Amino acid sequence: METIFSKIIEGSIPCNKVFENERILAFYDIEPAAPVHVLIIPKKPIPSMNEVAPEDLPLIGEIHSVAQQIAKDLGIAETGYRLINNCGPDSGQAVPHLHYHLVGGAKLGALVGGSSSHA
Ligand code: AMP
Repeated sequence: METIFSKIIEGSIPCNKVFENERILAFYDIEPAAPVHVLIIPKKPIPSMNEVAPEDLPLIGEIHSVAQQIAKDLGIAETGYRLINNCGPDSGQAVPHLHYHLVGGAKLGALVGGSSSHA
């Protein structure tokens, strides 16, 4: 499926790149939610966490390793950060291509915002 992220991977939409290898691309989010907000995506077009298969697990592990390195490079490893994956409608996932938000650089707010039916 063609998405904004598949177009960024193929180069037809530009991005502000932070990291790239054969399997993974990382770039700054266009609408940052924190002082540091980087998106880390596999080049393989996996639509969401729901479609991650057992053979993808080394790739998911590598994404964590890349996140660790980027956090170090951008100076937030010690101050702290979150690695967030949104999956499906309730999470607000907008782009159907697996991605992880690496956010930090300030004290982060509540883990889960928005309305909830649970008081
Ligand atoms: P999600 O809501 O988890 O699907 O996150 C999608 C993210 O992609 C949002 O934080 C958007 O700001 C970001 N985004 C959308 N288009 C672009 C783009 N062209 N370059 C960088 N980030 C983008």
